[in-house]
Amino acid sequence: MADTTPVPRSDAGKDLSQERAAAATPTPQAGPVGESFPKSIAGFGVTFETIFRKIYTEEYPEVKRPTAERYHGRHQLNRHPDGLEKCVGCELCAWACPADAILVEGADNDDTPVEEGGTGRFSPGERYGRVYQINYLRCIFCGLCIEACPTRALTMTNFYELADNNRAALIFTKDQLLAPLQEGMLAPPHPMVEGLEERDYYQGKVDAATSDQREWVAERDAAAAAAEAADASAEGGKPE
Ligand code: SF4
Ligand code: SF4
Repeated sequence: MADTTPVPRSDAGKDLSQERAAAATPTPQAGPVGESFPKSIAGFGVTFETIFRKIYTEEYPEVKRPTAERYHGRHQLNRHPDGLEKCVGCELCAWACPADAILVEGADNDDTPVEEGGTGRFSPGERYGRVYQINYLRCIFCGLCIEACPTRALTMTNFYELADNNRAALIFTKDQLLAPLQEGMLAPPHPMVEGLEERDYYQGKVDAATSDQREWVAERDAAAAAAEAADASAEGGKPE
């Protein structure tokens, strides 16, 4: 039958269900074992119980336990399938970070030919992340930065071994955070896939670097190697 006890005015609005449940629960009485031990020794019950438990030792770092699938570990800056970077240098991740652990400096992509002083194209959009740093002395691995990223450039990996005896080594720079080049990718800077726009990259129309992009990169590397060789021979010809 439902409890029809009237609630006094002073308790109006207060949830009395827990107090009533506690009053209805009988106080546990000590069993025969508990009766035969003084209370001071009975306190060791947990200790004795633990002594006979199976010992579980993690053999870290020799054996590493796999993390949960969506574990929040070290960050990664992702690439498009042709190798261009997904980061557009918008700084939203840095603004979202509650620990002020991210530093981003964006810059304009530059399609001016390198021989005319162009710095090159690193992402399909207008801008790219020229400087990118995450300070792992500050990061609390909350994942707010990856939620804020509009291009899915920033994600978190399962890597968790982030300890060092040098504070400077725990400030990761862009070259450490960038995803390694996969098959079919070319290291930027290089042009976008010919005839495509930035949005086409997000619509999955690019699946690897094209032959035009490969030729462009080969020519660029050959020109850089020739310039380096010319510099070296000029230095070698100088009188001491
Ligand atoms: S995981 Fe959290 S604390 Fe770490 S960089 Fe991202 S937003 Fe900042
Ligand atoms: S990682 Fe994402 S949110 Fe951060 S600057 Fe790059 S594009 Fe913007």
